[in-house]
Amino acid sequence: MNDATDCAYCGCDVTVHDPVYVREGGADAETPYCNYGCLAAHVEEEGLAVGTTCSVEF
Ligand SMILES: [Zn+2]
Repeated sequence: MNDATDCAYCGCDVTVHDPVYVREGGADAETPYCNYGCLAAHVEEEGLAVGTTCSVEF
């Protein structure tokens, strides 16, 4: 059982990087990313940057 510290984008262990944690869509859990690079890539890939960030629906 791990502590869910794998990057949500690339699957690396975020603790060896400079991790950022994001709470998405009102979820209780925070989603880890290695850094802002992975977060930005995830946002782009999922099209989350389209529309306002305040009204993203999952
Ligand atoms: Zn990553």
